[in-house]
Amino acid sequence: MALARARRRVLVIDDGAPRNAPAGHVHNFLTRDGTPPADLYALGRAEVASYGGEFMAGAVTGAVREEEGFTVTLADGVGVRGRRLLVTTGLVDELPDVPGLAERWGRDVLHCPYCHGWEVRDQAIGVLATGPVAVHQALLFRQLSDDVTLLLHTSPAPGPDEAEQLAARGIVCVEGEVAAVQVADDRLSGVRLRSGAVVPLQALVVAPRFTARADFLGSLGLETAELQTGGHVLGSYVPADPMGATAVPGVWAAGNVTDLKAQVIPAAAGGLTAAAAVNADLVGEDARIAVGRARALAGAR
Ligand SMILES: Cc1cc2nc3c(=O)[nH]c(=O)nc-3n(C[C@H](O)[C@H](O)[C@H](O)COP(=O)(O)OP(=O)(O)OC[C@H]3O[C@@H](n4cnc5c(N)ncnc54)[C@H](O)[C@@H]3O)c2cc1C
Repeated sequence: MALARARRRVLVIDDGAPRNAPAGHVHNFLTRDGTPPADLYALGRAEVASYGGEFMAGAVTGAVREEEGFTVTLADGVGVRGRRLLVTTGLVDELPDVPGLAERWGRDVLHCPYCHGWEVRDQAIGVLATGPVAVHQALLFRQLSDDVTLLLHTSPAPGPDEAEQLAARGIVCVEGEVAAVQVADDRLSGVRLRSGAVVPLQALVVAPRFTARADFLGSLGLETAELQTGGHVLGSYVPADPMGATAVPGVWAAGNVTDLKAQVIPAAAGGLTAAAAVNADLVGEDARIAVGRARALAGAR
């Protein structure tokens, strides 16, 4: 929107699969709390279009630099040229490989206490441990319910300090690998362990691996970096400076593709920040071009 209001020609190329599509509602968006993701999307598109921004449905598969900008290629072979690129392709949530889990994603299989914590308050919440953030997640969800179970699954038992914190907060640890998510009447009802034991639950918290959707940037030489904690890979992202500028001149990034923790408002804010930087860059280029033309004209007289 900022670029369209700055009277730039803007084309949004989008294959229409935003990350929060499985969720019923967007929360923590002041003045829009509870809006379905698709409605927010439609509102945003209408506002951008009202300033002349254009939209094209399709998946970008590659991008190459040219003398005056870039050409991006879509899956159907169409090529589109632009002077600058703003990459806002988000991330993929790679979910733990447990039968039945992916089908419940965004409904009662969750990751974020701020996105859906209120909705599962006071419920029986399980936290599936697949890495070092599980204890922290269990403590976060304990703020929302006094019935939190840490399912150790494939993770080692917590260390003494963590075990002390969990016990002091009344969080139960259950050993044993989770074999499947159980569902009754289209609601999560629990998890079944390899031993056959069932842990009744109403919600299951997981820690997906966050993978930037950035494969198509490889042809520009733009690489992703890994975000790690304690040797455990949390995800990958496109490195960018605070204005969104990437290592490749002319290419900016905003939202989850560069900031894995960004929720909707910070993602939108990143877009605005990067848009201002893109416009400033183009203003500088336009002035350089105009000076060159003016000098050429003066020299020709
Ligand atoms: C289940 C769930 C619930 C959530 N709930 C909330 C919530 O309540 N509140 C909140 O603030 N945040 C919530 N989030 C986080 C929220 O989804 C992100 O903050 C937000 O989607 C980030 O916006 P983005 O624009 O960076 O990426 P996205 O919204 O994922 O948008 C990226 C867009 O780029 C498109 N795209 C990707 N690759 C290509 C390509 N190669 N070519 C063309 N188009 C492409 C995608 O189709 C998509 O439309 C939730 C996340 C999940 C997983």
